Amino acid sequence: MVADAPVAPTSELPAHLAVHDDLLAQGSPCRVSLHTHPIELVALSHSRRWLEEDALTRMLWSMIPETRAFCPRGLGVVPYMLPGSVELAAATRSALARGYDVVLWEKHGVFAVDTDILEAFDQVDVLNKAAQIYLSGKAMGFEPEGMSDGQMNELAKVFSLPVK
Ligand SMILES: [Zn+2]
Repeated sequence: MVADAPVAPTSELPAHLAVHDDLLAQGSPCRVSLHTHPIELVALSHSRRWLEEDALTRMLWSMIPETRAFCPRGLGVVPYMLPGSVELAAATRSALARGYDVVLWEKHGVFAVDTDILEAFDQVDVLNKAAQIYLSGKAMGFEPEGMSDGQMNELAKVFSLPVK
């Protein structure tokens, strides 16, 4: 580590500051915000099919049970906006206000909030793993079946997960 090296703030500072402002105002237990570019989730955001409200959440939940358990509020979607812009920050805080812990930025990346950085990373990692499972099925030449609504509802009931 070079002690005197200048450290430039992230280009997504507007989103991080806006969201932390909201978390503090709400007395939220969430203390961190994470922005990253997970390849498979970004790839899916290039299809209109997955940009409909909660279409991606339901597909990702249905790929493997842990997704719903680790990301029980699902994945919000924010349409493409200029990186680093105050508009992107506003759309992100709006999506989080609708009850999501993780938001997908179309053709760009994800933004997650949680109690600590490992929990935030875990949410993104589990969502991206589900995306990888889906895309692996597609790469093998079939549309992955996914768990049924009944199976997912059973999971939510037994593990007391929020119902979306
Ligand atoms: Zn970015």
